[in-house]
Amino acid sequence: MGRYGAKILGSPQYFVSRKKELLALIESKGSPHIWFTLSLPNEYWEGLRKILQVSDITSAKEMFLRNPHIADAYFRHQANLFFKTFFGSKGIESSWLWFRYEFQKRGNIHLHGMMRLNIDEDFPDLAELVIRGRKSHRLLSLIQANSPINDPIISEKLSTIVPTAFTDDKFDENNLVKEIPINLTSNFIDEHIQNHEAGMAAEKQIIGFRDFLLTTINTSSPLPTDSASLARDEPQSTEKKERKRHPSNKLHDVMSSSDYSLRCEETTALYKDLVSALQRHRHNQGYCMREGKCRFGFPRKLAPNSRLIVRDIYGERGANKGKVTRTMVDFEFATNDGWLNSHAKFGLLAWSANLDMSVLIDQETVVRYIAKYCLKVERPTKAFESILKDSMKLQAESGDEVVMKKVIRRTFN
Ligand SMILES: [Zn+2]
Repeated sequence: MGRYGAKILGSPQYFVSRKKELLALIESKGSPHIWFTLSLPNEYWEGLRKILQVSDITSAKEMFLRNPHIADAYFRHQANLFFKTFFGSKGIESSWLWFRYEFQKRGNIHLHGMMRLNIDEDFPDLAELVIRGRKSHRLLSLIQANSPINDPIISEKLSTIVPTAFTDDKFDENNLVKEIPINLTSNFIDEHIQNHEAGMAAEKQIIGFRDFLLTTINTSSPLPTDSASLARDEPQSTEKKERKRHPSNKLHDVMSSSDYSLRCEETTALYKDLVSALQRHRHNQGYCMREGKCRFGFPRKLAPNSRLIVRDIYGERGANKGKVTRTMVDFEFATNDGWLNSHAKFGLLAWSANLDMSVLIDQETVVRYIAKYCLKVERPTKAFESILKDSMKLQAESGDEVVMKKVIRRTFN
């Protein structure tokens, strides 16, 4: 039963088997580079409505609720197509790809996954170089500002450092000052300049990939009127209309014929509709707002270029309280619209529904994602629990074979 259960989506055995698979992949082929979640837009996909043989949204809603198995099968078919296109040889080729299906409380299917690119570098390793480089830069800036320099060679070397760069980084400067030797040597300065240069190169690699995969630039012209405001405008009637017609899955069919163009007018219009309907954040009091602040950081600061920001993290309790426990790196994305989600342009077109994707640069975040999303075992649903309880009663009366048949029949009906 255990081995059989591994194939039943959402069963505890299914999650255990996915977990083993993920850990084996990481062990043998390296850590993931990208994390993603694909959601099903309920009855909004045109292709699904065709299968359910309904054209209007209201009847589609009912058919959708009555036929979750068809919606699940369609979702899985589209997910496989998406992976083949997006993470295949014509897309961003993966070295490994892992995902697991999950069901929300209402029973809606979605999936979480991770993938590793076909490259040798690990982003968390590059991020470590960025941290080291930024610390060296701050250290050199502190020396430049506070220490009298008598050696002309050291003085010339230090003149290449621009102290106003990276001032948004937050470091415990007392810790850095302790590293400055009483007698400064040229070697000490060289070592930190090298760290700084290696950090800049590593940042360029990370940012280059992020900006290639994801965007936070709104291509609408003119920009939405609230793009630089602290609050969203009231929903416009056009936005509601877009929601109704979203997300057209025209590209689903086009994708399978592998004859698509990202430059044609129709695709551009579809992309803008999807961005406007799905990718502009609206606060939701019960969901994203905590003590008056949005936990997703909206509205975001407008910025002309993407960059990394480095900051020390302090312990909150116990012996580590107030001490630096680790240093982490965060993205600040180039954006012209403070309410726009970071999204994959082609991914959004290809999936035509909500698609979250992020570049994994922090080792602790990788570990947390694995623990939170990939290793959790879902509680059996009420219905499944009651099937099992009934069956245990039946077992006492009729024996194992009858019970097994009944459980299997009821699970699949
Ligand atoms: Zn919010």
